[in-house]
Amino acid sequence: MKGKMKVAVMTGARKMEWTEKDIPQPKKGELQIKLEYVGVCGSDLHFYQDGRLGNWVPDGPLVLGHEPGGEVIEVGEGVTGFKVGDKVAIEPGVPCGQCEYCKRGLYNLCDHMSFMAIPKERDGVFSDYCVHPANMCYKLPDNVSTLEGALIEPLSVGFHAVTTSGARVGQTAFVLGSGCIGLVTLMVLKACGVSTVYVADVLDKRLAKAKEVGAARTFRSDKEDIVAFAKSLSGGGVDHVFETAGNTVTTLLTAKLIKKGGSVTLVGMAPSPEITYDIGSLMDKEAKLNTVFRYRNLYPTAIAAVAGGSIPLKSIVSHEYAFKDVISGVAYNVDNKQDVIKAVIKF
Ligand SMILES: [Zn+2]
Ligand SMILES: [Zn+2]
Repeated sequence: MKGKMKVAVMTGARKMEWTEKDIPQPKKGELQIKLEYVGVCGSDLHFYQDGRLGNWVPDGPLVLGHEPGGEVIEVGEGVTGFKVGDKVAIEPGVPCGQCEYCKRGLYNLCDHMSFMAIPKERDGVFSDYCVHPANMCYKLPDNVSTLEGALIEPLSVGFHAVTTSGARVGQTAFVLGSGCIGLVTLMVLKACGVSTVYVADVLDKRLAKAKEVGAARTFRSDKEDIVAFAKSLSGGGVDHVFETAGNTVTTLLTAKLIKKGGSVTLVGMAPSPEITYDIGSLMDKEAKLNTVFRYRNLYPTAIAAVAGGSIPLKSIVSHEYAFKDVISGVAYNVDNKQDVIKAVIKF
């Protein structure tokens, strides 16, 4: 496909505008894709709200959106395994394949990563079309929609967190935060047979959703004492805690919620990189502290899990905006956090 396409570009804090660009053409090894759904991620909202995300500061216009699902409309030279009309999930990060970390299989930590909607890396996909290396695209089976394809990105974050924790069948867990990442973490834990998962947040609508998708009990962490509750459990805590809110207060609680030999996995990034953490409680319990950065080698597994029916992924979507309304949609998300659990853009 050749011609012009519409692109929504962020030009500063709370500034997004429409522009027209040439439809990008697939080079060797690439697919040209018509976007069908793109999820709106917390990081998109941070960029929009503050004009930056932590140390990532755009030095010019930046196209947001990195959770894409779409249809292949042209296949670049040398690509095998894809044809026009295939529905795909697109993994937004393109690693170099050459550096030490790529060669060790840790490509999420690539020294030369080119990730969508990250300044100086690559533009995101709040645009009608995109091109992407075929080896970072994954064909969706017939029973997985491109809406679910878009949500494979956050689901992979949940998969990576749960895999890293070592959580297994019959254990217990606490998930702090029930936004998109908290909910997908909960879903993966349940799918892995973790029998009892508790979820805490400060927003009722999100907690109701957590209950709906399998939380044994939910807590308003601003009103209820979750540390006292955890202490009352057998062994004085849960096996695994996942911090997904990126909140300093909940990060500090993590070591107090686990039982001896348990694990803490930090998934959300706290706004301040340095915090005073209770290492003593961790050591007394001989507990593990894990951190995760995005995900790696997980798209096929995540897609297979959704296709197999063990993850009710679609149910986290609370809002759907047409692409023409993406600018007001993103603004609504930022201003109505209590109402929006997960929004997607439909093309
Ligand atoms: Zn995301
Ligand atoms: Zn690399």
